[in-house]
Amino acid sequence: MIVPRILLLVIFVGWSSASQAELRFFYEDRFSESEQAKLETWIDEVAGGIESLVGPYPFDVHIRFARARSREPVPWANTLRGRDQGVRFNVDPRHTLEDFRRDWTAPHELSHLILPYLGRDDAWFSEGFASYMQHQVMYATGAWTREGITQRYQRRLDEGARKYKYPDRPYVDVVHKLRAQRKFRTLYWGGAVYFLNLDQKLKANHNTSLRELLSTYLHCCRRHRDDLDGVIASFDRLIRSEVSAKELARFRATPGFPHYGRIDPSVVD
Ligand SMILES: [Zn+2]
Repeated sequence: MIVPRILLLVIFVGWSSASQAELRFFYEDRFSESEQAKLETWIDEVAGGIESLVGPYPFDVHIRFARARSREPVPWANTLRGRDQGVRFNVDPRHTLEDFRRDWTAPHELSHLILPYLGRDDAWFSEGFASYMQHQVMYATGAWTREGITQRYQRRLDEGARKYKYPDRPYVDVVHKLRAQRKFRTLYWGGAVYFLNLDQKLKANHNTSLRELLSTYLHCCRRHRDDLDGVIASFDRLIRSEVSAKELARFRATPGFPHYGRIDPSVVD
């Protein structure tokens, strides 16, 4: 795919100035040396997957670990959005490195950091984004095959659509209801449709892709504070188009669960 020259220029300038950014690990509880090595290998791999998709973060990423006992390797995690950008993970280090590699939490939480914190009202956009990206990252790290990833997208979207009970109301109008009803998959995957559709439009009509756009955005614009409209305005400025804003307006106005087509393996190209 040919990258427009303006994008290449920004990518080059951004990457060259961001080369100092690194992962910084902090332990809130006692972890043995081998446990620390396992956890850091896991996060290094996930961050490497993200970097292969959109380039490095333009800031240090702070990773905090607290100890938990759970049947899952990562029972709980949340992003850190203060002066330091990062993620705090509650982990049970008795699980194997393979168990951690198959868990979606780190791909999801670290993807959140590609965009700024957008506030509670627009959480559907952030969660949709991280849900869309977590699958891309798990393909990039080799945790899932292309076929597996295609099926997972399809299953999650079909499940979200099936459980959506407001055929006459746009998804964005009912996100608060979905949250109150704890229909998190429907909430998250409805938002993910925006990014699936935007990526398809960028590839078909704009000679670029969501990954290329995110890479440029991350390095030119991510360090600024932005709300949802600001992010969309930055996207469209970078691709010299109104496609992101138009797609969002359509998304907000169309009744029913957001429309998506059949997912094919090119979803990770
Ligand atoms: Zn999330």
